[in-house]
Amino acid sequence: MAEPVGKAGAGPVRLYDTARGEVVPFEPGPVVTMYTCGVTPYDATHVGHAAVYITYDVLQRRLRDRGHDTRCVRNITDVDDDMLRKAREVGVHYLDLAASEVARFDDDMEALGLLPVASEPRATSAIPDIRGFIGMVLDRGHAYVEHGSVYFDVSSSPRFGSLSGLERDTMLRLAAERGGKVDDPAKRDPLDFVLWQPSADDEPAWDSLWGPGRPGWHIECSALALRELGTTIDLHGGGADLIFPHHECEAAQSEAATGEPFVRHWMHQAMVRMDGEKMSKSLGNLVFVSDLRKVHDARAIRLAVVSHHYRTEWEWDDAVMPAATERFDRWLAAGDGDGALAEVRAALDDDLDAPGAVAAIDSAAASGLGVSTAAALLGVDLVSP
Ligand code: ZN
Repeated sequence: MAEPVGKAGAGPVRLYDTARGEVVPFEPGPVVTMYTCGVTPYDATHVGHAAVYITYDVLQRRLRDRGHDTRCVRNITDVDDDMLRKAREVGVHYLDLAASEVARFDDDMEALGLLPVASEPRATSAIPDIRGFIGMVLDRGHAYVEHGSVYFDVSSSPRFGSLSGLERDTMLRLAAERGGKVDDPAKRDPLDFVLWQPSADDEPAWDSLWGPGRPGWHIECSALALRELGTTIDLHGGGADLIFPHHECEAAQSEAATGEPFVRHWMHQAMVRMDGEKMSKSLGNLVFVSDLRKVHDARAIRLAVVSHHYRTEWEWDDAVMPAATERFDRWLAAGDGDGALAEVRAALDDDLDAPGAVAAIDSAAASGLGVSTAAALLGVDLVSP
């Protein structure tokens, strides 16, 4: 495919691949399939979530700029332990809770300038797909049924652990910390993970060959990726806290079910920290996007995020928004034009170096060039009022 010089850049996009542990060329075909793990909609979106989705949005913008089509799927986990616990706490039906939080999430993402995703399927839309997928895993001898639960048998999967590259002791510790129920006596190995489980009395249940129940945590993403994007996807992403166990388990069960590679390239977003700790619902150290939007232009919020590299943890503090707002005003004052465009394209092709791109736009604006086209590649809109 012929590309205008300067648009395609000197070479391929280079990106860090978590599985290989190094920066490698990322050379997809004309249509790039991407899957990013979405939210569990029981609470508002915080800056850590926003950083994940903004990163994949910047990548999509650069891939489209290079002439690719992109097809990005982002699921919604509308049934899981957290959803059901929160719905119980606030006394609403879990799907009503999901509907109101998804509306809030979509509104935040639109304000932050995210391109619409190709689809945003819900876990509860995929129950037949999930049951069929579990049947494939069982048929190929990679799972077993015990007391109405279906467990994935990690001993049947030689590749288990190859994405995260973790030792068994570390996998056991992380699985225990992250909801892996390692002490479940029905498991043959504590690292085995649940594909299907019986529901508690007050939880939703769907019929299945193994008894009434609901999906395990990891299975929806494998079933939805297969349904929406096919057997092998070009790029899979999410927050770095999903590498283990979530993505390791997704890869194991998908490759067990289809016999084909699941993902060509794994890309993970580093955590945003606050008060020295990872920003997370469980710690409560959160900055919600909807609260920031009451005070700040959403484009400046986006600029605050893209000023940091996706693979570097960074700290949210009181200095972040004033600095981003001041920079946004400088770019806006510089006006329309394609200043820094070549530098921004080159920076993004170099492991999505958004801070390098931001610095290039800073210096173009300082020398009196308009920077709206380069800023648009970062998803920062300087043109709309
Ligand atoms: Zn997922």
